[in-house]
Amino acid sequence: MSKPLSDHERRKQISVRGLAGVENVTDLKQNFNRHLHFTLVKDRNVATRRDYYFALAHTVRDHLIGRWIRTQQHYYEKDPKRVYYISLEFYMGRSLQNTMVNLALENACDEATYQLGLDMEELEDMEEDAGLGNGGLGRLAACFLDSMASLGLAAYGYGIRYEFGIFNQKIVNGWQVEEADDWLRYGNPWEKARPEYMRPVHFYGRTEHQPGGVKWVDTQVVLALPYDTPIPGYRNNVVNTMRLWSAKAPCEFNLKDFNVGGYIQAVLDRNLAENISRVLYPNDNFFEGKELRLKQEYFVVSATLQDIIRRFKVSKFGSREIARTDFSKLPDKVAIQLNDTHPAMAIPELMRVLVDEEKLTWENAWDICVRTCAYTNHTVLPEALERWPVDLFAHLLPRHLEIVYEINRRHLEKVAAKYPGDNDRLCRMSLIEEGGQKRINMAHLCIVGSHAVNGVAQIHSDILKATMYVPKISTSLSVMPYITVCTCVRVKMFDANLHGHLSPLMSRRLCQVSRRNPTINKNHPNNSQLIYRKSFISFAKMIIRLITAIGEVINNDPVVGDRLKVIFLENYRVTLAEKIIPAADLSEQISTAGTEASGTGNMKFMLNGALTIGTMDGANVEMAEEAGEENLFIFGMRVDDVDALDKRGYHAEEYYNRLPELKQAIDQIAGGFFSPKQPDLFKEIVNMLMHHDRFKVFADYEDYIKCQEKVNALYKNPKEWTKKVIYNIAGCGKFSSDRTIAQYAREIWGMEPTHEKLPAPDDKQ
Ligand SMILES: *Cc1c(COP(=O)(O)O)cnc(C)c1O
Repeated sequence: MSKPLSDHERRKQISVRGLAGVENVTDLKQNFNRHLHFTLVKDRNVATRRDYYFALAHTVRDHLIGRWIRTQQHYYEKDPKRVYYISLEFYMGRSLQNTMVNLALENACDEATYQLGLDMEELEDMEEDAGLGNGGLGRLAACFLDSMASLGLAAYGYGIRYEFGIFNQKIVNGWQVEEADDWLRYGNPWEKARPEYMRPVHFYGRTEHQPGGVKWVDTQVVLALPYDTPIPGYRNNVVNTMRLWSAKAPCEFNLKDFNVGGYIQAVLDRNLAENISRVLYPNDNFFEGKELRLKQEYFVVSATLQDIIRRFKVSKFGSREIARTDFSKLPDKVAIQLNDTHPAMAIPELMRVLVDEEKLTWENAWDICVRTCAYTNHTVLPEALERWPVDLFAHLLPRHLEIVYEINRRHLEKVAAKYPGDNDRLCRMSLIEEGGQKRINMAHLCIVGSHAVNGVAQIHSDILKATMYVPKISTSLSVMPYITVCTCVRVKMFDANLHGHLSPLMSRRLCQVSRRNPTINKNHPNNSQLIYRKSFISFAKMIIRLITAIGEVINNDPVVGDRLKVIFLENYRVTLAEKIIPAADLSEQISTAGTEASGTGNMKFMLNGALTIGTMDGANVEMAEEAGEENLFIFGMRVDDVDALDKRGYHAEEYYNRLPELKQAIDQIAGGFFSPKQPDLFKEIVNMLMHHDRFKVFADYEDYIKCQEKVNALYKNPKEWTKKVIYNIAGCGKFSSDRTIAQYAREIWGMEPTHEKLPAPDDKQ
C-alpha cells in the first residue's frame, strides 16, 4: 500500500491551486488517526483497508458538520421558500470524493493519506455505491440535489432508505444473475439517524363520515424513521439535507391483536411492517402494480408531508417563532416537486391533511394544493405509466380513494362544461379508467393536481402536449398547468466549467480524448420487446445472453478476434459510469424517434469528449442544436417518419428481404450460429424482431449502417474527429443540471437562485 503512487502524482500535477496548507494536512492526519483509534477502534497493526476508508470518510465528514448545522440555522432564521424534491429513487453513488471536491479538500487529503503511507484512490474504492435508483430518473434526482445546494436553494430531497438498493449484476456463463445489494452491511458514515423525528404512517382501516368531517379510523400504523444525509454545494459552504425514511414497527405492533399467536409471533411479525423500506423495485420504465410498492409510495409521501407541514408551522416571523396557521401562505413557502408519478399520492394526501385535519374548505385546500405541487413526467411509454387498481387503493388507502373520486368529479364537471356532450373526451381525461378492472391514472392525477407539468427534453414535452390532453384545457385552476422543458445532467467526471467554455483542466484533457480504445456499444432497453410482460425481466436477460454469445464467437474468431472485442461490462452503476464514460470515443443513442424521453448518458458522453451516433430523439435533438448537427452522426427516422410508417404499417420482413446483410445477421441468430449447443436459444428474440417489434428497429437499420461507415471514415482522421469533439464539449453547457435547476426555480418554483455563499465555519473541534 505504500508503493510509489502514480495517481497521487497525477493529482499533484493537475492541482490548479497547489496543495492546501501544511497545517491543514497536519490536522487531517491527526484527525484520521483519531478516528482510526476512537471511531474504528483499531491500530495500524490490525486496521484493514476498509477501516482506513472509514477513518478518512469520518475525517472528511467532520468538515461537513459545521456547514450543515449553520446552513440549517440560516434557513430557520431567514425562512426562505423551501423546495421539496420527492422521489422514490436517489441514485447517489459514492460520497467521499464528491464531498472532498465540493469542500476543496481533495489535495490536502491526498497529501495526508500519502504521508500516512496510504493510497487515497484505493481507500475511495472501498466505498459502497448508494445504489438507491434504477437509472436516469434516480441519477437525475441526485444531480438535482447537488445543483440545488450549489445554487443556494433551501432544498430537501425526500425518499426511502432502502436496505437493499439496485441488485448487483453478475454474469455467470453469459447469463445475468442478481445478487442482493447489502450496501449498509459495514455501516454508512454519511447518514445520521434521527429517531426523535419519527412519524406515524397509517394504512388500511375505513372512513367515518361525521358532521364535523371525515375520519380515517381503525388503521394500522407503521413508523417512519428519518436518516439524514448531508448534500454539500460546490464550494459555497451550503449543506442541504436528503432525508430518507426507514420503516419501523411500533413497539405495540400486533401485541394487542387477539388474533395473533402471542408475543413471540408478534415480534417476528414486525418484519412485515418493516419490509416497506426493505428493497428498491428494480423496474426502470415499467409499472408493476404490487401492493408493497404502493405502500412504499404512500409511506414516503405521508411522512414527508408531515415534515413539510411541521416546518411550515414553526417557521419564524421576524425574531419571534410563531405557529403559522394560515395555509393560504403554503404555496409561497413550499414547492413540492414530484419526480414522476411515484410520489403522486402527495396530492390526495395534502388534500386529506388540509381538509380532514386542518379543516379547510375543499376549494381553499385545492387551490393551495395545486399551487404547491408540480410534476415531472419521465416517459410516454404506456407500459411505464402507473395505473393503480381501484380495489387495491380502496383496501390500502380508503380515504384517499374518496378524495381522488372527489377530485375527479370536480375535474370532469369542468371538462363537461367546456366540452358539452363530448363523452369521449370525458373518458379520455378521467382520472379513473373504466372498462374491465377500474384503475386510477396517476399521470392524470398529477396533471390535474399540479400548477406545472414538465417533460425532460423539448421533444418529449412536445409529445406530451400532443398526447396528454389534460393540460391543454382550462380546468379553472388558480394557475394554468403548463409544460416546460428541463433537460439536465451532472455527473462530475471532470471539474468542468459548463457555462459555454472550457476549464483549463478540460482543455488539457482534450489532447487525451481524441483517440482511445474501441467503442463500447450501448444496449438500449428500448429495443427489447415488451409484449412478454409477464417475463419482462427474463426477456431482458435473454438479450444480455445474446450479447455475451456474440462476444464468445467474435472474441474467439481467428480473423477478427484480436482486432475487435465485444465486452459486456457487468454491474453497470454510478461508479462504473464514472470510469467508462470518460473512456469512450463513440456514444450510441439509438432509440426509435419518439420513445426515449430524454436520455442522460448521451449528455454525459458529450461532456466527456465522445461523439454521438444517434436518432433525432430525446436530448439528442438539443445536443445537435447546441453543437451543430454536422458535429453529430444523426441517422434514422424522425418522429414524423415514424408516425407515417405507423399509418402505412410496419412490416419487418420487407427490410429483412431487401437487406441481405440484415437477413444474414437475423438468420445467424435464429439458426444457432451464436448458440451452437442450443440452436433455438434466441428464437424468441428473432420472433419479436420479425413479428411484434413496437420499436420498428429494422426500419432504421440501413441508415444506421451507412452512418457507422461515416463514423469509421472520420475516425481515420484524428484532426477532424477532435474538431467535432471540441464543438461538442463547447456546446454542452445547456445540459448542466445547474442550468436546469435555475430554470425550475424561476419557471416552476417562483424563486430566483441566490448563488449565495455562506461564511466558512471554523472547523476546529
Ligand atoms: C446516467 C446513468 C443512467 C441513465 O442513462 P440513460 O442514458 O439516461 O439511460 C443509468 N445508470 C447510471 C449509473 C447512470 O450514470
